[in-house]
Amino acid sequence: MTHHLDGNALAGPLRELFAVDLTTATTTCAGCAHTTAVATLHVYGQAPGLVARCPGCEEVVLRVVRGPDAAWLDLRGTVSLRVPLTD
Ligand SMILES: [Zn+2]
Repeated sequence: MTHHLDGNALAGPLRELFAVDLTTATTTCAGCAHTTAVATLHVYGQAPGLVARCPGCEEVVLRVVRGPDAAWLDLRGTVSLRVPLTD
C-alpha cells in the first residue's frame, strides 16, 4: 500500500495560493496547450457564475460559481496554473 498524507497537508500551500491575485497566474489550456495569463482569458458571465475560455481555442479553461455561502472552482480545462509568489 502506498503511503500518503491526507488533504490537510495541502492547507499551507493552498492557503498561500488562494491568498494571491490569480489573474496574474499563468494558465495552460488542456485543449490546445496555449499558455497565457489568467487576466487574458475570455470570460463570459451569462452562465451561472463566470466561464473563462482559452483565447487560443475557445475551450473552457475554468469556471467559478459563487453562492451565498460557498464557491465552486472548476479547473478541468487547465493543465496547470503557475502562480507567481513574492516574499
Ligand atoms: Zn486552448
